[in-house]
Amino acid sequence: MSNTPLLSSSARASRADEMVPTLTEAQVARIAAHGRVRRVERGEVLVKAGERTARFFVIITGQIEIVRSAGATEELVVLFGPGMFTGEMNLLSGRRGFSQVRVRESGEVIEVDRHHLLGLVQTDSELSDILMRAFILRRVELIAHGFGDVVLVGSNHCAGTLRVKEFLTRNGHPYSFIDLDNNESVQALLDRFHVGVEDVPVLICRGEVVLRDPSNQQIADCLGFNDAINETEIRDLLIIGAGPAGLAAAVYGASEGLDVLVLESNAPGGQAGSSSKIENYLGFPTGVSGQELAARAYTQAQKFGVQLLIAKGAKQLACDRKPYAIEIDGGQRVPARTIIIATGAEYRRLPLDNLAQFEGAGIYYGATFIESQLCRGEEVAIVGGGNSAGQAAVFLSQTARRVHLLVRADGLVETMSRYLIRRIEESPAITLRPQTEIVALEGDDHLERVSWRNNQSGEVETRAVRHVFVMAGAVPNTHWLDGCLALDAKGFIKTGPDLSPDDLAAAQWPLDRTPHLLETSLPGVFAVGDVRGGSLKRVASAVGEGAIAVAFVHQVLHE
Ligand SMILES: Cc1cc2nc3c(=O)[nH]c(=O)nc-3n(C[C@H](O)[C@H](O)[C@H](O)COP(=O)(O)OP(=O)(O)OC[C@H]3O[C@@H](n4cnc5c(N)ncnc54)[C@H](O)[C@@H]3O)c2cc1C
Repeated sequence: MSNTPLLSSSARASRADEMVPTLTEAQVARIAAHGRVRRVERGEVLVKAGERTARFFVIITGQIEIVRSAGATEELVVLFGPGMFTGEMNLLSGRRGFSQVRVRESGEVIEVDRHHLLGLVQTDSELSDILMRAFILRRVELIAHGFGDVVLVGSNHCAGTLRVKEFLTRNGHPYSFIDLDNNESVQALLDRFHVGVEDVPVLICRGEVVLRDPSNQQIADCLGFNDAINETEIRDLLIIGAGPAGLAAAVYGASEGLDVLVLESNAPGGQAGSSSKIENYLGFPTGVSGQELAARAYTQAQKFGVQLLIAKGAKQLACDRKPYAIEIDGGQRVPARTIIIATGAEYRRLPLDNLAQFEGAGIYYGATFIESQLCRGEEVAIVGGGNSAGQAAVFLSQTARRVHLLVRADGLVETMSRYLIRRIEESPAITLRPQTEIVALEGDDHLERVSWRNNQSGEVETRAVRHVFVMAGAVPNTHWLDGCLALDAKGFIKTGPDLSPDDLAAAQWPLDRTPHLLETSLPGVFAVGDVRGGSLKRVASAVGEGAIAVAFVHQVLHE
């Protein structure tokens, strides 16, 4: 094993200091009050690789090393001495660790369990800053080096591979990727695990389990993303959906002492997670990628002790009696005193017969860094005239050779912010095509050609466009509510003053008071963000509504 630590050698000095800080005596003493001091002996394994990292160690004397196995050998990831501490994001989430924590030199440590560590970061702001920054930077470094417990074998031209990459990335899970198209030695690896090229994407999970074209749920199960849930425990607050609105509600709820469980059918971040750059969210003057915003919010929720189930969607709301319950994928039932529905909306699909064949293989619904790399130097088309389409056009024009922006209307003025229209007009790489819609898609495994029609002239043009971004408005994720709540004509949830006396009579509203702002036709059930009728469809308003709803949750819990 090499004695040069992998992490500190690669990080710049100041960042390395934040990643591996040395605590003062006073700080160590404050941590000691939350744990116990114990002796450790050279060679002792404190946490095994793959174990749920439920313990955190501060070194008083001696040394602790973090090692990972690399084939038959071991690599030293980082070495901690007196005043330093172990751990990374897994400690907050309670998920499995990637490396072994072992004593290099006998001495004394403070051992703190996860429960007390969460208490510490919630109450001691100075230590919270130091620990949270170190945990986040350590995770960023693991991701950058692909030091995870997962190997993904696939092709960048395969929809399944892109889905798995996005799922792992959105969950902040480090992985290494072996590209079938550019790696000649891949066959040996596939042979070792008895899988063929036709099985891709293949996920080798913790070096043991081989998943062929796995669903997100299978990946979440294999990587231990979700804790078991107790179906008899009645939660204070159950939140459905972990987009900006749901994550905001989770952070406010948990930080105000509520017992919060969040169910997310895919991965945290929602639609915002697919945005390349959000420039109008307060506090980020240079913009922030949706992915980064979501990752920060997710970390914040974990810090406050929110339990979040990934790839577990709500299937049904049992609304006939209290406590209400949500039935989730896999048949489990979770009861709760109050519920916040933050299931957002989903992109409209194009009415083309063979659309599904190319989804992820040339048809995309978000333009993030991953997609931008796929269409480097190529022609792309974007469908839609709203702000998300405008952002995508500006973003993709930095890597693509040409961007065709197709809109059904005469222009963009009615639907897009002025600042985006100006950037589009000023970009020589973007061609605006008004009154135009796609009429045909062609290709085999991947989209190869697109035909579009100008509805004014009737002229149809076919071009070798291999990447189409569909950003043509959204429909609400309310199909699962099955008559429990009053919806508007487009299927969005009606709340507060939007509920008419007729709506309340039809729903048999049982209380003397009228519904609170953001409360649905079912007392104690709220709707926030894009899923709510009349919502603004902005990150800021979704976050604001999540926070406001929690104030009413407290009132309902005291009713
Ligand atoms: C590409 C793009 C760019 C954008 N850019 C901007 C911008 O620059 N500025 C701005 O202000 N806004 C922007 N928006 C809009 C903004 O992202 C949305 O308004 C915001 O994400 C809405 O948040 P939400 O939490 O209400 O819903 P969503 O973000 O839609 O999140 C809903 C979540 O609920 C989950 N879910 C759905 N059904 C279920 C179920 N049955 N069970 C469990 N979970 C479920 C989904 O998987 C999803 O994670 C953009 C949107 C897109 C798509």
